[in-house]
Amino acid sequence: MSTLLKLENVTKTFGGLTAVNDMSFEIGQGEVVGLLGPNGSGKTTLLNLISGALPASAGAIRIGGSDLAGKRPDVIAAHGVARTFQLVKVLPSLTILENVMVPAAFGRSRLWGAALEDHARDCLAKVGLTAEETLHAGDLTYIDQKRLELARALAAEPELLLLDEWLAGLNPTELREGIALIRSLEGHGMTILLVEHIMDAIRALCPRCVVMAAGTKIADGPTAEVLVDPQVIAAYLGT
Ligand code: ADP
Repeated sequence: MSTLLKLENVTKTFGGLTAVNDMSFEIGQGEVVGLLGPNGSGKTTLLNLISGALPASAGAIRIGGSDLAGKRPDVIAAHGVARTFQLVKVLPSLTILENVMVPAAFGRSRLWGAALEDHARDCLAKVGLTAEETLHAGDLTYIDQKRLELARALAAEPELLLLDEWLAGLNPTELREGIALIRSLEGHGMTILLVEHIMDAIRALCPRCVVMAAGTKIADGPTAEVLVDPQVIAAYLGT
């Protein structure tokens, strides 16, 4: 398996606080990896560093061999990285189709016109969003807004998808649908790094997990082993 993402000694400080401390790990092409850790352990900050929303204080972030640490989000997106946000960020006053056309227009293929619309429709189909495409995003149900956000991430044709608690807030039926949807992306060969607190989802989706506590990596390995690691359990229980 070739390496898609490689973090080397990545650190992020905010004033006196070290939110991410000397993190190193690799993700291979096509892998689905869970990123776990208690609240405040640095998971979202790490996603922000990988996607370029924040510059790293130190270290290298390599995607397909290029060091992208400190590069702008659009440059990193052009290297095939897309993300979803913990709080859904669809554009409520635009239609569903427009919501997907916007990121598609700035995606790796720089599509326009009919090709842009067709691609946006493909992305909506991939996430199973069947609502009328002329509906405004703000009128969608919560699960459909989540689907739309995923379609927006896929619109830029990413190789690496960063999911920040995309499954949070779903009811049990929606959760099953959401897990199946992420599985279907995996079936398309997508590489995924997934921050998630729902352990059933982690078990179902991620053969491997990386665990953070207080900004540091405390475990990295097969999920079944990581979840029974005493250091991981202690980090979650705060002991
Ligand atoms: P997690 O996603 O694991 O809950 P975060 O990455 O959100 O953790 O936060 C890690 C630490 O960094 C926390 O102590 C948080 O308060 C701090 N932090 C996150 N973002 C900022 C910021 N923009 N400015 C200052 N401190 C921040």
